[in-house]
Amino acid sequence: MKSVQSHPSAALLGVANKPPLTWALPRPRRPIALNVATLLDGKGGTLRDTVVVVSGDKIERIGGPVPQGAQVYDLGGMTVAPGLIDTHVHVTYHFSHDRFIDNRLVGQDEPVPDSVLFSVENGVRILEAGFTTVQSLGPGTPWDLPLREAWARNLVPGPRLLTSLQWFRYDQPGQTVQPEAELRAMVRDLKARGADAIKIFASTSVREGSRPTLTQAQLDVICGECNSQGLRSVVHAYTSAVKMAVQAGCTAIEHGTGGMTDEALALMAAKGTFFDPTVGVVTENYVANKDKYLGVGNYTAEAFAMMEKLIANPKPPEEFIRSLKVPGLKIVYGSDATAGAHGHNAEGLLYRIKFGGQDPMRALVSATSLAAESLNLGSEIGSIAPGMTADIVAMRGDYLADATALREMAFVMKGGRVVKYQP
Ligand SMILES: [Zn+2]
Repeated sequence: MKSVQSHPSAALLGVANKPPLTWALPRPRRPIALNVATLLDGKGGTLRDTVVVVSGDKIERIGGPVPQGAQVYDLGGMTVAPGLIDTHVHVTYHFSHDRFIDNRLVGQDEPVPDSVLFSVENGVRILEAGFTTVQSLGPGTPWDLPLREAWARNLVPGPRLLTSLQWFRYDQPGQTVQPEAELRAMVRDLKARGADAIKIFASTSVREGSRPTLTQAQLDVICGECNSQGLRSVVHAYTSAVKMAVQAGCTAIEHGTGGMTDEALALMAAKGTFFDPTVGVVTENYVANKDKYLGVGNYTAEAFAMMEKLIANPKPPEEFIRSLKVPGLKIVYGSDATAGAHGHNAEGLLYRIKFGGQDPMRALVSATSLAAESLNLGSEIGSIAPGMTADIVAMRGDYLADATALREMAFVMKGGRVVKYQP
């Protein structure tokens, strides 16, 4: 019997003897042209009345004619900016049946598929609010990596996700810190498992007294190992732990409350340590959702009394206002959004501007190019320029005149794909 001879090139392609395709292969996407009235480039620059041309997932050019056949979006009457970046969220935290679900108890309070779908919902809310990139800083869930993958592939709408997967945390009774070799191995293990950064608790939570939980030597080991592995180290630090973390060469300080002495701030500026003050969202959100948090873990009545007192007079800590005046200090934007705050990520920017006196342009830069730099992504995202990934948003109104435009996100493009257009 004579075998059927297939075309040699077909054999090479591994499609021998298969029927030809009867459907069309995907066509290259049309270029997209954004007609822009006001554009803030994310680095402090402003452009007026121009065109942004997007090809594939990249910004091809700014200015010049609209390419033939391009899909055109009219963004007049809006402020165009790079996709916003939130360097500190807890992307999987959510409410279920009006209760806060503690992600440290995966599968105990509700079935895992429910938890996963609530996380997907958080992603939709975050992206539609104009945040195209977020960093989730633990405690991490088994679905952090699948979520990162699903959002990267645009299987479901969601932000570009960076995750710490886990955290180094020693604030529970009876916990001991591992010896040096083990700490180093833990950092390397997280890297091997795909962590984008290492999250370290150098202090207990505000609700538990803000005490240091690691020694200088232990911080030196963890952040030192991160640095030698090319991993960023992001440290939750209050009071004396701030200076310790800066001295240890850690990448970023989260919160910083009670530790931002002039000396610590100057040291951070000199060493290029990023500062994320996380003001204006997290405590306000706890109080706004008190009924859902009260009684879960350390969300006690006493803790709420303290938090309610704290936000009664909306004003950022004095040290945040002082930090704005420190030359060269890299203040980035992170909301610390947990359950209830996803999709309201920009509220901390408004708070900084309205109550902290931060210049709106600097606030925007802190949530775009500077945030991107803090994530080691400064050459890819966080600004609008040719060659950059096309993460572009537009808010209704004039942001520089009235920053509440942040609440009116009318257009969101992530990686060259338009995910929202509500002019
Ligand atoms: Zn946090």
